[in-house]
Amino acid sequence: MNKHFNSHTQKSSDTFLEKGDNELLVKIREKKITGSDFEKFCYIKRFYERWMADKDFRDNFSSNPAQYLRLYDLKIDAEEVKPVWDNNFIYTQNQQSSYCNIFEKNFFQKDKNLSLQCVFTDARFQSWQNKQINRCKSQFHPQYHNSIGHYPGCFELSRGCSVGCWFCGISAPKLGDIFLYNEENANLWRQLLESLKNKLGENFGSSFCYWATDPLDNPDYEKFCIDFHQILGKFPYTSTAQVWKYPERVRALLKLSISKGRTNNRFSILSLKILNQIHQQFSAEELATVEFAFQNPEALSSKAIVGRANKRKQSDLSQASEQSSIACVTGFLFNMVERSVKLISPCPVSKKWPDGYIVFDQGNFSDITSLDNLLEKIISSNMNDCITDDKYVKFRDDIQYESLPNGFQLSTRFMTRKFNDSPKLRQLGEALYAGNLMAWEIISLMKNVGVSEANTLYYLNSLLTKGVFEEEVRSIQT
Ligand code: SF4
Repeated sequence: MNKHFNSHTQKSSDTFLEKGDNELLVKIREKKITGSDFEKFCYIKRFYERWMADKDFRDNFSSNPAQYLRLYDLKIDAEEVKPVWDNNFIYTQNQQSSYCNIFEKNFFQKDKNLSLQCVFTDARFQSWQNKQINRCKSQFHPQYHNSIGHYPGCFELSRGCSVGCWFCGISAPKLGDIFLYNEENANLWRQLLESLKNKLGENFGSSFCYWATDPLDNPDYEKFCIDFHQILGKFPYTSTAQVWKYPERVRALLKLSISKGRTNNRFSILSLKILNQIHQQFSAEELATVEFAFQNPEALSSKAIVGRANKRKQSDLSQASEQSSIACVTGFLFNMVERSVKLISPCPVSKKWPDGYIVFDQGNFSDITSLDNLLEKIISSNMNDCITDDKYVKFRDDIQYESLPNGFQLSTRFMTRKFNDSPKLRQLGEALYAGNLMAWEIISLMKNVGVSEANTLYYLNSLLTKGVFEEEVRSIQT
């Protein structure tokens, strides 16, 4: 699995599906794969989990496949998973439709950027999100960017996380207070979800209820999810690193989730011992649609150098990846204990943004009225889709600028865009590159060379939507 995540925050795998599950999951959910076929699928999946996590298994399987299948109680024929363990294997026409092939394609290789299909009722939020997605496309490797969900929001139901992973890509602090489902909190929660539904629409339901937290640290997590489903129409995706501690609770949560239409969830595997335990606690069938995020050192996956992992010496990261963020929300991050909101979006790790996401704005609320006011303030201050006259306009610092005879070119490591319709564009490009002019000054400069205000504004606004300008980062105190 060519995925690189080091927190259960990142919906890095393609199986976090909001808009239409992948073929295989749909078939399972619709019971088109049943009986012995279903069992075969489940054991192929379990074989993959072992293969991904266990180096000893990978190194030795081919020497005696039957023995290893027996040892791990994998009720399949070694031939069925030959494409995985035999380096010389080539698919024949007939084998293209084998479960092994379908499984590999669906679970490990399919790129989906589902957020791009989401529509929100507030046009300002929609265009702000699109602009951030455009910026991210130029800042991340396309293969990685395709796995970023750009989900519209997430809710922390505690302060911090009890698991304390050394590699936590968003530097979760130690577990503090928990937002329990008492009368006051339940009221606020429900009002908050209603307010978000009214403001942004039902598609806000593709949010989820954790970030730098583990959902299972909150004993009432399931109650919050039930409200979420009732109000926003979707049961939130769960990703947890604590399955082995609470097998009965997780079993019930999986059932609840499936009963509300959410078939995919994720377990983070922190060690081989935990994988062994989970494989003992749950049958292969029970985990048919559960995705695994392998974080154990023996796994075939690498760590993103961000958050706490970035603070470790590089030498400790034997399988470091180029991925420089695990963040997947372009929208609102709520902490219900602190009653805080942040407006965030992924970015490559930097000194300024050590956890791989930008915090554009933030504030606190005390009740639903102050939350509504705060959200409106954040939206109106940050989500202008037009250039403002009295603001400096300049290209982002990470963009390389080059003048062309008929315009200019902007490049990053992952993207080059040419704007070369007319020699006058070159002048505009140079003014923006200099970065010392306000929008109205650029408009007058262009007027002097015969470009109308409307045309200059058109170009500036269209560059704005492409996410190439430096953005203001605010902080709101309420
Ligand atoms: S410390 Fe908590 S939030 Fe961070 S990766 Fe581990 S389980 Fe996830």
